[in-house]
Amino acid sequence: METQTKIWLSSPHMGGHEQEYVNEAFLTNWIAPLGPNVNLFEEAIQQYIDNDVHVAALSTGTGAIHLALELLGVSKGDEVLCQSFTFSASANPIMYLGATPIFIDSEKSTWNISPKLLKEAIQDRISKGKKPKAIIAVHLYGMPYLIEEVRQIADEFKIPIVEDSAEALGSSYRGIKCSSFGDIGILSFNGNKIITTSGGGALVTNNLGYKKKAVFLATQARDDAPHYQHSHVGYNYRMSNVLAGIGRGQMKVLDDRVMARRANFEFYKDSLGHFSEIEFVEEPEGYFSNRWLSCILTPSFAIRENIRLALLKDDIESRPLWKPMHLQPIFEKYPQYVDGTSDDLFERGLCLPSGSNLTQADLERVVTIIIKELTR
Ligand SMILES: *Cc1c(COP(=O)(O)O)cnc(C)c1O
Repeated sequence: METQTKIWLSSPHMGGHEQEYVNEAFLTNWIAPLGPNVNLFEEAIQQYIDNDVHVAALSTGTGAIHLALELLGVSKGDEVLCQSFTFSASANPIMYLGATPIFIDSEKSTWNISPKLLKEAIQDRISKGKKPKAIIAVHLYGMPYLIEEVRQIADEFKIPIVEDSAEALGSSYRGIKCSSFGDIGILSFNGNKIITTSGGGALVTNNLGYKKKAVFLATQARDDAPHYQHSHVGYNYRMSNVLAGIGRGQMKVLDDRVMARRANFEFYKDSLGHFSEIEFVEEPEGYFSNRWLSCILTPSFAIRENIRLALLKDDIESRPLWKPMHLQPIFEKYPQYVDGTSDDLFERGLCLPSGSNLTQADLERVVTIIIKELTR
């Protein structure tokens, strides 16, 4: 019997030039968390996002959020507002700093942080005696959050934004690339992201001082002295020059990867959109999503699970949408401003295979099974 290959949710997709740059690192013996690939990878990201930004390549996106919060002055006992509907890496760094996460639910048009609940939360926290120190807003699945509304609230209350663009490299709002809207933006190059260095991240900011301080903190906070001298607690968060070589190769194909992921979404919409049971989230006017993962909403948890299990039986990986942080055992005791939106998305939503390396036959295999479940 012919065996079918496994279809993954989102797997790495090399472009062809990565090994050349990795070889350069070997030939020049820059096998370190510094070297020409790191600088050239940062430059490539900067040119891609916006020439006015500064980029610090780091070992993970999570580390980038940790540094961003520290740069914004978050410390023990502070409160940080965080989109609840996200991956736990958005919220964990709040805990590293001994601060308190305050979770905010999503709105329905982009599935990201609700400006209405954000404002209510800020007013309520202030009335309770503490103004939150930062807002962590996320472009989940590559869809930009309500950029203007969130910025307006941040400015009104003078609270800086950490823009979690881990899933949104290549997405934009009115032609401006994601990761340049926050006071500090962050990117991830983990293995499942739109481009990857196997593991990696970056901090993106218009503020050169923030970049310099991020690099300082990421390299063990060494003072300027011939010996090793330290007047700050530092971290070991810099990206390796070997991995930055992979990143340089991946930047060359980023736009192709965005097009391929968007084409996956269009294929799913064309094939499934006429079923009244299946909903997709559309781009509001001016929005451009990299469609990192193609997501569907089904009528119920039961139907969602039937589809997921039918796919699994055929060796196809799919995944429920992120479980909101306010429902997570580790986070449920923290203050939350929620209205049921992300609970509902979690219950009914499914991420379909979305890699840029899926073949037409792969995509057809996926929709054939879903259609069989819907018409059963
Ligand atoms: C992947 C991801 C991160 C963390 O990035 P790592 O590089 O894996 O540490 C943060 N936030 C979101 C929304 C992510 O999807």
